[in-house]
Amino acid sequence: MKEKFTNSAKETTFLGYQVGLLLEPGSVLLLEGDLAAGKTTFTKGIGQALGIKRNINSPTYTIMKRYMMDENKLYHVDLYRLDEVGSDFDLEDYINSDGISVIEWPHKVSHILPKEYLLVEFTDLGNDQRKITFTAKGEKYERVEHYL
Ligand code: ADP
Ligand code: MG
Repeated sequence: MKEKFTNSAKETTFLGYQVGLLLEPGSVLLLEGDLAAGKTTFTKGIGQALGIKRNINSPTYTIMKRYMMDENKLYHVDLYRLDEVGSDFDLEDYINSDGISVIEWPHKVSHILPKEYLLVEFTDLGNDQRKITFTAKGEKYERVEHYL
């Protein structure tokens, strides 16, 4: 487990960038935290690390957005509104592919989550401060956690 603190959205994006540089194809990140805790802001940084030029914004109304840059693929999933939208799409196939999956509100699909992943928990400490905790499940994610 590793704990980080950021004092602005920019710092959270930069932390995402640092994480993004360490990710292997097929990685799965589970982002937990209340609305506006900083999950999407963090994901923007992952996209930057993968060379994705398109702006990454909240996919709340679409459940998932796909981004690509050369061989890098990023699947940004936001399950906040899953109950309303229904769950009849192949999320499991994306999670098990060689793209990088970043999933907000992952507990809504706990039955299809892989055994190994990097859990990232966001806590709003007030003003612009956030606590961001990394917990690795599995060797390849322990490596990421170690180098943060
Ligand atoms: P989530 O995806 O968790 O709902 P967002 O990343 O969409 O959250 O929104 C976070 C909001 O909080 C943004 O408006 C961002 O500018 C603001 N913010 C303020 N301080 C921070 C910080 N330290 N880290 C991340 N976001 C911050
Ligand atoms: Mg979000």
